[in-house]
Amino acid sequence: MTIDDAPRDALRGGPRELLRWVATGAAVSRADLSRLSGLSPSTVSQRVEALISQGLLEEAGAGRSRGGRRPRQLAVPTGGAVVGAIDLGAHHARVGALDLSGRVVQARTLPVRIEDGPEAVLGALLAEVATLVGSDPAAGGGSAPGALRGVGIGIPGPVQHSTGRIVSPSRMPGWNGFDVAAFCAGRVDVPVVVDNDANLMALGAHRTAHSELDHAVYIKAGTGIGSGVISSGRLHRGAQGSAGDISHCRVVADPAPPCTCGNAGCLEAVASGAALVTALREQGVPVSDLTGVIRLIDDGDRQATALARQAGRAVGEILAVVVNFFNPQVVAIGGRLADCEPLLASMRATLYERCLPLATQTLLIERVAAGQDVGITGAAHLVIDHVVAAA
Ligand SMILES: [Zn+2]
Repeated sequence: MTIDDAPRDALRGGPRELLRWVATGAAVSRADLSRLSGLSPSTVSQRVEALISQGLLEEAGAGRSRGGRRPRQLAVPTGGAVVGAIDLGAHHARVGALDLSGRVVQARTLPVRIEDGPEAVLGALLAEVATLVGSDPAAGGGSAPGALRGVGIGIPGPVQHSTGRIVSPSRMPGWNGFDVAAFCAGRVDVPVVVDNDANLMALGAHRTAHSELDHAVYIKAGTGIGSGVISSGRLHRGAQGSAGDISHCRVVADPAPPCTCGNAGCLEAVASGAALVTALREQGVPVSDLTGVIRLIDDGDRQATALARQAGRAVGEILAVVVNFFNPQVVAIGGRLADCEPLLASMRATLYERCLPLATQTLLIERVAAGQDVGITGAAHLVIDHVVAAA
């Protein structure tokens, strides 16, 4: 099985929307679904029966009666570790088993050497997914064979959406052109969906914190830097899957540092965690990784703080263009640099300075709140959407 081919479910009351209303508690009965969707009771019933037969919905006891027969309550089956998720980073991967509501049942962080290449890295992570799903404590220490419904994978680089192939990633030697979906399909017997890590962070954050908002931009600032866009309530990927990839947008920087893409002055070369490590080393500060940089910033180190402010301004400059162009309701920043106060403060100031008043009047600027599981949560929702659409 290959990648999700973005099945359309834009019509009000599509199976995915029905499931989401139940999952979020907006609906507990067929009557609620009929009212919310505007669909006839018989159409809703038909769709609900299909979802129940696929194991995606269940009936849970009796609801409140308005006279006559008590309506049966609908629920999304929770507790089962049935969706596998991998959020791959430059040095670590978060791997999880989640239930059909997108709740994390089990998860752990593993060290990763991305330079070991895709076969070794993905092979090990898929094995870990199988272990987590198989050791679900809710299933008495072992989920039933075949319980796994799908695996979602986030990659820290550009992913061509139609094929699941990685295209010209920075800092991922040996991964260019690799067909993640085909490789994984040869190793697991369930659908595998692949997307870039910023898109999965956006999906996870939107579903958990902002599902009532239609237009949102999520910045992922870690070793690399990228963004994911929610438009009209849906993840916006564009024609090929590169929508939201702000890493090689040019910012004002003098001197303009060289970028891995061959240009100079890219956002990634100025404001990413990797760029901060490089810049500090060039100033003679012996720092080995992003953790070291964050520690220096937290300690109020003058050089590190100045670089963080410069990075925040650069992110703010690009984000101002995005906000003016797209007019989101919320901009949220996640990733390891999101807790870096000087970066956030200068990003916010630049954003207000450069945006149209109408665009920022009611704009929420926040940190992504969902923590380290936001990526695997997004990956799980991608799988759930795919399974529902296929059903
Ligand atoms: Zn570049």
